[in-house]
Amino acid sequence: MSGVRRRVGADRNARLGLLDGFWDRSVVHQARVGVIGVGALGNEILKNLALLDFRDVLLVDPDVVEKSNLSRSVLFRARDEGRPKVEAAAEALRDLNPDLRPEPLRADVVHEVGLGRLRELDVIIAGLDSRRVRWWLNRTAHALGVPWVEGATQGGHGQAVAFLPGDLPCYECSFTDQDWRSLHQVSSCRQLALGAASRGRVGTSPTSSSMVSAAQVHLAMDVLHGRKVVSGRSLLLNLTAPDLMVSGRRFNPGCEAHYRYEPVIAVPLAAGTVTVGGLIEAAAPHVGTPAAIELRWDLVWSFVCSGCGPTPVRRPRETVVFEELACPGCGQERTAQFLQRLTAEEHGDELLADVGIPSHDVLEVQGPAGIVWLELAADRRPTDSVAVLDR
Ligand SMILES: [Zn+2]
Ligand SMILES: [Zn+2]
Repeated sequence: MSGVRRRVGADRNARLGLLDGFWDRSVVHQARVGVIGVGALGNEILKNLALLDFRDVLLVDPDVVEKSNLSRSVLFRARDEGRPKVEAAAEALRDLNPDLRPEPLRADVVHEVGLGRLRELDVIIAGLDSRRVRWWLNRTAHALGVPWVEGATQGGHGQAVAFLPGDLPCYECSFTDQDWRSLHQVSSCRQLALGAASRGRVGTSPTSSSMVSAAQVHLAMDVLHGRKVVSGRSLLLNLTAPDLMVSGRRFNPGCEAHYRYEPVIAVPLAAGTVTVGGLIEAAAPHVGTPAAIELRWDLVWSFVCSGCGPTPVRRPRETVVFEELACPGCGQERTAQFLQRLTAEEHGDELLADVGIPSHDVLEVQGPAGIVWLELAADRRPTDSVAVLDR
């Protein structure tokens, strides 16, 4: 059985090996690649990774397959309607390349994926349709020291561009006032999201997704193979002209996205079992006391009804919708209490998982002697699933 598999694998690689200098077996087989967003673009990116014989691929997307996705997504079939996109895509990838080990993670990457999991990746390829998530990913990938490759399409237009940590400009460097306005243009009320907020959707053509994803995967291959990549230089594609262009971007010395999480220290703790107090205790030798966990999002701690009292919430602000303020007891509008930091005195007994901290996260702890980032290393994947069996 394994002999047959090995022979099939060897055939794949024999042809790929002809791509002299472009495709190196050991690099591709050992690369840990993350694909964030499994829509039209993400499907094409994943298809390319499978055909190039990548082995270790993380898929992140919170959504399920809808009928409207089928016309633009090479990995989805009609029978997949209603299934999580990451699961439908992972199954199709295994069909396409049985040696690929996809790790499907149905999650909102901003709030539900531990930064420790992203930090393990050698490159992140974005198949996103949200400007806000791209902005978040740019800051986060830079802070974690992980290269990322952006891709975007609109009708027959598209672009692909890589951003390398420590090699600026970054995605945010070139933001204009208009960009900032559209970034903050999330409909909100009382600082909470609106339930049926319509996110501006733009038409995606499968042809431009196909070309942009090819350029993205090429950039990722260059990053992984250590070939020269110019950070922030976009390949711009216009299939309707048709026209191809390369465009750089300017470094902005005032850009606020250039911080790094340093040092990151792995601690043998897990989000499901360690308390706020326990984590702060682990940080104390590095930062002194009293210390506090600085959250990377505003936490809605509770809803307070003047008639019925407080109800715990413990969820990131962006995931709580305004409509939830209505008190189920009396119908009055409640107020939301926000929190940005957790202290041992006030929140010491709370489990990290119970206050919305994802598994394998990296958390910032500040104390009088400085700042440290602690990685919840007990949540790491079991080593046997990380091991790479090169053939
Ligand atoms: Zn920047
Ligand atoms: Zn009430």
